[in-house]
Amino acid sequence: RAKRVTGEQVALFSEEMKVAAFLRFTLEGDLRRAIGDDALRVVYQPIVDLHRRAVVKAEALVRWPHLARGAIPPPEFISLAEETGMIVPLSRSVIERVCADIAVMEPYLPADFRFCINLSGVNFMDTQLIPTVSAVLAAAGVPPGRIEFELTETVLMRDLDYATVILGQLREMGVRVAVDDFGTGYSSLAYLRRLAVDTLKIDRSFVNELDDGQGIAIVEAVIGLAHSLGLEVVAEGVETPSQLCALSARGCHLIQGYLFARPMPAESLLEVLGREVSMPGMLAGNTSVR
Ligand code: C2E
Ligand code: MG
Ligand code: MG
Ligand code: MG
Repeated sequence: RAKRVTGEQVALFSEEMKVAAFLRFTLEGDLRRAIGDDALRVVYQPIVDLHRRAVVKAEALVRWPHLARGAIPPPEFISLAEETGMIVPLSRSVIERVCADIAVMEPYLPADFRFCINLSGVNFMDTQLIPTVSAVLAAAGVPPGRIEFELTETVLMRDLDYATVILGQLREMGVRVAVDDFGTGYSSLAYLRRLAVDTLKIDRSFVNELDDGQGIAIVEAVIGLAHSLGLEVVAEGVETPSQLCALSARGCHLIQGYLFARPMPAESLLEVLGREVSMPGMLAGNTSVR
């Protein structure tokens, strides 16, 4: 009897695996088509400067409205895209979309307003990254100073010599670089000093832990590190007034999170750009989308 149960479980498991493999296979084809058909969307999440009481940057976040399955979470299809190499055309299409949106918004943008674009490790290792970025920016007439690329700590630290070269080329082009999800990897002060980056983004997990007091030490360390290296520091995932207070009391005045605004379409971003930010939540509007 025990044997039969085990047998059934094995059969059930392999049936599930077949379904999973099939879903993944169809998803791969769907994603390939979505990239080809330019069906991916980009939304923008405002980043607020508490000192200037204004939106000073926005992070571009890709969205895939899947016809049959609804919205698929970015981490799910981004990892699929990374594994299949589709991340190269995907990122290109995101950069193109952001540049097209910037071209439309340009007359209304404050001089130093920046757009943050995520790049994956595969993009960072792609030998065509630099020529692609400069070609796309030039074609759209977007000044490189408008762009800040976000790369995770792990990607940057994997090969320090290589990272130094690529960051140098990006800097030469005039774009900026932020270290995303900072604090989740293993970088040391010495490593960070060698890299030509402009911004540290405190990972959402530490901001979350601020409420129960756990994240304070790490958040303080990251803010101190950023300041001593002359870098900007952005806190991401800020959801509560108490997190906001804890961050601003410790000298972090660049805030990204649902407390101020969720990611939104370009048209909505344009609407909130000119607003003076005096109250959390006031940018949320009713056109925001997740
Ligand atoms: P990330 O770069 O760390 O982006 C921040 C994520 O946190 C976004 O999730 C954003 O919507 C979410 N977020 C912001 N504020 C809050 C908050 O207050 N509370 C909560 N719970 N979440 C908040 P999203 O858009 O789902 O993206 C997830 C990840 O997918 C990104 O993390 C990034 O690693 C990746 N990703 C998104 N768009 C792109 C893209 O165009 N290219 C690449 N390569 N990766 C992307
Ligand atoms: Mg990011
Ligand atoms: Mg992040
Ligand atoms: Mg994150």
